[in-house]
Amino acid sequence: MSSTGPAVSRRQGMLIVVSAPSGAGKTSLCRAIVAARPGLRHSVSYTTRAARPAEVPGRDYHFVEEAVFRGMIKDGAFLEWAEVYGNLYGTPRASVRQWREQGIDVLLDIDAQGASQIRRQEPDAVSIYILPPSLEILRRRLEDRRADPPDEIAKRLKKARDEVKHYRDYTYVVINDDFQSSVRQLEC
Ligand code: 5GP
Repeated sequence: MSSTGPAVSRRQGMLIVVSAPSGAGKTSLCRAIVAARPGLRHSVSYTTRAARPAEVPGRDYHFVEEAVFRGMIKDGAFLEWAEVYGNLYGTPRASVRQWREQGIDVLLDIDAQGASQIRRQEPDAVSIYILPPSLEILRRRLEDRRADPPDEIAKRLKKARDEVKHYRDYTYVVINDDFQSSVRQLEC
């Protein structure tokens, strides 16, 4: 019999993908759930989009020039990447892998194109789609948060109409009509 004792095998962290049309309340929900769950990390994406006034580099996104982003694509630095509303967004491969190897669950807040890339590469990933109660409520939320100019809001609403059709591809769907109850559903 071996005297080295049983091999210690650590559970690989889960990959949880959350998508939603812009304005469905995804960012706030993701923040709330990461704050409530110490064993869960939010992966900070890279983007070529300009930072919004309230955004903090390194917390909300890593903001980079397009040339830097394209170089990272070439180097295979992204687990997935996509063009969304004319800007590039990507999930860094290294930090996600490192956390998962440490048994930490990782939450990706990415669009439907990215989610489908992840599903192909990582069949065990759990995916959650957050739906707003209605497109009218979505429009109001986008206008009320005053983060984007009217033409940008129109672009986001048009994409939302197309994107919500993808909800069937996800493992779970949460309708965000009440924040606290949505947080509880996500935690489950
Ligand atoms: P926003 O510009 O409003 O922060 O994000 C626009 C969209 O890009 C959202 O649907 C968001 O989930 C998505 N997004 C953010 N980071 C990534 C990423 O790394 N990959 C992909 N595919 N989409 C992302």
